[in-house]
Amino acid sequence: MAPKVIHSQPLAQRRERFFYAHAARSIYCQRGSVVTPALPFGSRLNESVTSRRVETDGYGIFCMALAFLLIFVFVVGASVGSFLNVAIARLPLEKSLLWPNSRCGACLQPIRWHDNLPLLSYVLLRGRCRTCGQHFSIAYFLVELGTALGFVALFWLEMVENVHRWPGHLTFSPRLGHYPWASYLGFAWHALLLSFLIAASICDLKSREIPLQLTLTGTLVGLIGSMFLPWPWPHALTPPPAPLTHHGIYNWPFWFPLPDWFEPGSNWQTGLATGMCGAMAGTFLLRAIGFIFSKGLGKEALGLGDADLMMMAGAFLGWQAVVVAFFLSVFPALLFGIILLAARNDNSLPFGPALALSVMATCLGWRWVPDVVRVFFFDATALIAIALLGGCALFVMSFLLRLIRGKEEQQT
Ligand SMILES: [Zn+2]
Repeated sequence: MAPKVIHSQPLAQRRERFFYAHAARSIYCQRGSVVTPALPFGSRLNESVTSRRVETDGYGIFCMALAFLLIFVFVVGASVGSFLNVAIARLPLEKSLLWPNSRCGACLQPIRWHDNLPLLSYVLLRGRCRTCGQHFSIAYFLVELGTALGFVALFWLEMVENVHRWPGHLTFSPRLGHYPWASYLGFAWHALLLSFLIAASICDLKSREIPLQLTLTGTLVGLIGSMFLPWPWPHALTPPPAPLTHHGIYNWPFWFPLPDWFEPGSNWQTGLATGMCGAMAGTFLLRAIGFIFSKGLGKEALGLGDADLMMMAGAFLGWQAVVVAFFLSVFPALLFGIILLAARNDNSLPFGPALALSVMATCLGWRWVPDVVRVFFFDATALIAIALLGGCALFVMSFLLRLIRGKEEQQT
């Protein structure tokens, strides 16, 4: 008789290894930051068999807790997406968001609440009106699904993976999804920004216009929120923070060292100044670039809606992130441009979605911004020099573009 195939390790033991691998990684990731993990994992590895069993059971509960959290975030995201659909449809027409209830565009019958559940109703009714059978656009469904998936992805990156290295936050926390409340707040803050960005992008795609109401509301929300999240909150203030390595919910202060009447982490003035600088940087940077470009090119280049979008993003993330996001946005913009040109032979480029994408990428990837770039952000002379040089380069570039275009037009 052939011997039974036995796994090199029993299931419980393999699970345990997975669990400890993540626990160990989380300790490693916390090293060098102000926070030390509350649980000394290293010692646990050598404990007796009974305590190991308890830990392995904990793994199952941990997975369930995480799954429950992710499903919850998905449902919240789908509901937010459903609200965004209303905003996208009504804001360009300057209608109220709350009244009247949603109606079918064909028969004007109000849609009942049980036919208006995010995602589910669309699938159950196969995208039709219950009364008259009119088809609803798949775009509604896609916005809801996209927002839900966006929320889940954001939650995974910020909470489970902890890409920001937020303090007191262990990656794959063995404490059953008990992340610090400050981390939940940080996630909610960025989810709010994501929602505003999705709405702005869809409006831009649909009508080549970003409603000012939307971006102004977003900016106002960002400025109010910034007062409660002064840099480097929620990082500990002792030992005194160094701006180039530490991350709060706002990654950096508006300037370092902070001027005398601003204090790190404790007063609302620091937060508001950070938000204000971000909003102003967003609007002025894009307006300036748009102005230079239109002078060189001889026609309008960047929409005002794009400047408003960056004003909003700046209020949420601070001015340094706006600058980085703008430069990054060139890549998705080129990609979208090529896709649109190929698909529709359409050379009017909606810049909003590219900006939104690079804003979120910058927000999540701030840890990987190279030190070389970081140094310039707190050096006034270097900043002015770069701004002047960049402005001149942009003007020359756009002028060359105009010459090339002029030649093409002459030929045709
Ligand atoms: Zn109908």
